[in-house]
Amino acid sequence: MSPLLTGQFPTYRPRRLRQSAALRQLVAETHLSASQLIYPLFVRSGRRIRKPIEAMPGVFQLSPDEMLKDARIAFEVGVPAVLLFGIPYKKDAKASGAHAKNGIVQQAVRLLKKELPGLLVVTDVCLCEYMEHGHCGIVHRNKSGASILNDPTLKLLAATAASHAEAGADIVAPSDMMDGRVRAIRSELDKRGFIDTPIMSYAAKFASAYYGPFREAAESTPKFGDRRSYQMDAANANEALREVALDIAEGADMVMVKPALAFLDIIYRVKTEFGYPTAAYNVSAEYSMIKAAAAQGWVDERGVTLESLLAMRRAGADIIITYSAIDAARWLNAG
Ligand SMILES: [Zn+2]
Repeated sequence: MSPLLTGQFPTYRPRRLRQSAALRQLVAETHLSASQLIYPLFVRSGRRIRKPIEAMPGVFQLSPDEMLKDARIAFEVGVPAVLLFGIPYKKDAKASGAHAKNGIVQQAVRLLKKELPGLLVVTDVCLCEYMEHGHCGIVHRNKSGASILNDPTLKLLAATAASHAEAGADIVAPSDMMDGRVRAIRSELDKRGFIDTPIMSYAAKFASAYYGPFREAAESTPKFGDRRSYQMDAANANEALREVALDIAEGADMVMVKPALAFLDIIYRVKTEFGYPTAAYNVSAEYSMIKAAAAQGWVDERGVTLESLLAMRRAGADIIITYSAIDAARWLNAG
């Protein structure tokens, strides 16, 4: 039946079902709950470090002990998962810190799985935070400039994902946008016995100005050039579907669209087309814009945040990665 097939006024009066909160709740088509949220955490070495990210009020770079505190709060308010990003002690041209047995993310995973075994630990699999040049792959310099090498990068990504799984990660999430990385990661995980470790691929990740504040948080700004030769062009929706199809064919168990708010049409199409578990990444600037306007008293932070998250759910996201996860969970729990 077409959703447009309705009765006629005055027999059909849509306002009848909007008369009380209970009635509105009864007929609500979309629900938002803490159980659908993932909380990102930025971890760096040291002790008792809680370094604020200026452009993201309420978000910090945390040493493992402090990270554990925030992960515990998230878990206690009903957020089932965290997503880890690492800021290594030192960077190099091979992203050694990304796949080191005792790298910062690997340490953080072990700590979380020991202290909070019920919390799902998702790890961001990429090289940019660990590369001295800040790109997501191996850089080849030539006369005309520099290029990011696709195929040689796959080995490093696969080694990184496997090292996360070895440390105990519940889900690995490749965010680099190299072609063929999901197959390379799946095959390395399987070879090393991690056949049950799911892959959540950043399948349709767009080169976006909305990542600005994140780069301060992850210290991953490219030293030259930009990421437009590997991340997607914001103009392309059909290509996003091909990217998702490719990742699913290579073994992705969940797919992600990033950013979320300016790409709700992509979320809708990905969910409708593939029906796979679909995540939306509510990125840094989406968060910062609300925080900044709320600080001025221009918008209601709770209202605008929850409405934005609900929009991602309505578009088709099953899972939302958001810096607002703890606040949103508290607001939702309070009714
Ligand atoms: Zn990256």
